Amino acid sequence: MPIGLPLKTLLYDWAGGPKEGRSIQAVTMAGLSGGFLGHQILEDLTLDDPCIRSHGSFLGAGGIMVFDDSRDIVKAAHDAMAFFAHESCGKCFPCRIGTQRLTERLNDSIAELPYADWLAEVEDIGEAMKATSACGLGMAAPHVTESLLKYFPDQVAAATESVN
Ligand code: SF4
Repeated sequence: MPIGLPLKTLLYDWAGGPKEGRSIQAVTMAGLSGGFLGHQILEDLTLDDPCIRSHGSFLGAGGIMVFDDSRDIVKAAHDAMAFFAHESCGKCFPCRIGTQRLTERLNDSIAELPYADWLAEVEDIGEAMKATSACGLGMAAPHVTESLLKYFPDQVAAATESVN
């Protein structure tokens, strides 16, 4: 596809859009490495790196995954982080442990901590991973939690409240 194509052209005109009765909730960029981009901004997105980076993501190799509104986005984030934990080669501590801890923080024990403590831990782990991981996998994985908190705070809050 041409660089600069509006994302909605790709999603609706080229790919046929969501199933009847459903709407698009989020898309991922760079496979999963760019995290989620929420439905709130999809109208504004064009498929070029400056635009995607201005929203905290990146194009990477161009892989895009689409999630409709039937999906539990917190569960999707958990599964994405579990993928990174599985793919981590384990060479460096921040990525090896960080991907595992973030996966745990997104699973059914999401609210074993008070929300403020949960949030602080998730943000601290992500910042440490981005600053100290030796390769792009460990640096990119925190995009999943960052984007979840940025675009879907209500779903995160609901998940924590459902356990507390
Ligand atoms: S950041 Fe890269 S090198 Fe370090 S453990 Fe993760 S995959 Fe391995």
